Amino acid sequence: MYTGDFLRNLLQKPIPLAPLDLGGEVSGAVARLDLLHPVVSGNKLFKLWYYLDRYHREGYESVVTFGGAYSNHLVATAFACSEMGIPCMGVVRGEEPRRWGQTLEDCRALGMQLAFVSREEYRALARTEAGAAARGALVIPEGGAGALGIRGAGLILKAIAEQHTFSHILMAVGTGTTLQGIDRALLPGQRAVGVPVIAVPPEEQAAFAERLGGVGLVHGYSLGGYGKHTPGLLDFMRSFYEQQGVPTDFVYTGKAAFALMDLAHNGYFPRGSRVLFLHTGGLQGNRSLSPGVLGF
Ligand SMILES: *Cc1c(COP(=O)(O)O)cnc(C)c1O
Repeated sequence: MYTGDFLRNLLQKPIPLAPLDLGGEVSGAVARLDLLHPVVSGNKLFKLWYYLDRYHREGYESVVTFGGAYSNHLVATAFACSEMGIPCMGVVRGEEPRRWGQTLEDCRALGMQLAFVSREEYRALARTEAGAAARGALVIPEGGAGALGIRGAGLILKAIAEQHTFSHILMAVGTGTTLQGIDRALLPGQRAVGVPVIAVPPEEQAAFAERLGGVGLVHGYSLGGYGKHTPGLLDFMRSFYEQQGVPTDFVYTGKAAFALMDLAHNGYFPRGSRVLFLHTGGLQGNRSLSPGVLGF
């Protein structure tokens, strides 16, 4: 399989684990995917692995993918493509902002061509592969979702030597691609727990779970809604860092860590459980907060 040495080396590094204090009679650890790389930490490169493999096997000429103006997936794709010399385009949801944020600047600096389309156009485009494929471009779905993204996410557990010591594996959920990949890579007796960072209304929760193949989800931790935050969340992230030494981001991992501590505190995990928290990265997203607000 050819996916470029840089990606192979990165993804075959063992993922560092650190202990987490969950109180009571539940033990915990965090898998620091955020430490894998300074620019493109986290789960996104795992989800890209099989797409980039397909790019080479099937002789495409470029990559097209989709995301919002703060998308970690766009940056990860831009980075991987720049490392591998692949021309790439990011289709960005919504009008071009007057001042580009850090994410878009990063993508541009990495050589990604950016096209801004209206939300309506985006919805139509993000779901069709035909147009771009006809021009020799491999289309990677928004967020690195889809079957190849799910397979790639399963590689995360392969890089954790102590996987078999855990009873539960907990992580933030956006598209749910990572959760589905983890769920399929579980050992007998293990459970995956997903924390959606998007508020899903109660009447839509059953359909949401079904779309992800019936995986375990805990709702109620969107804390202000997707991409937003509450003062309570920022306070929690500060104290989680002070007490556990783990920095988190306000879009994904801060909310998942909040859920983890809340669930542990409320007896969600049976006595004797050993819980692994997947730190899926995303720390660069904190650059949009006022400097100094988090203390890390
Ligand atoms: C994208 C992302 C997620 C969500 O991953 P999905 O596979 O879309 O559910 C979680 N954490 C971070 C930091 C991310 O960037």
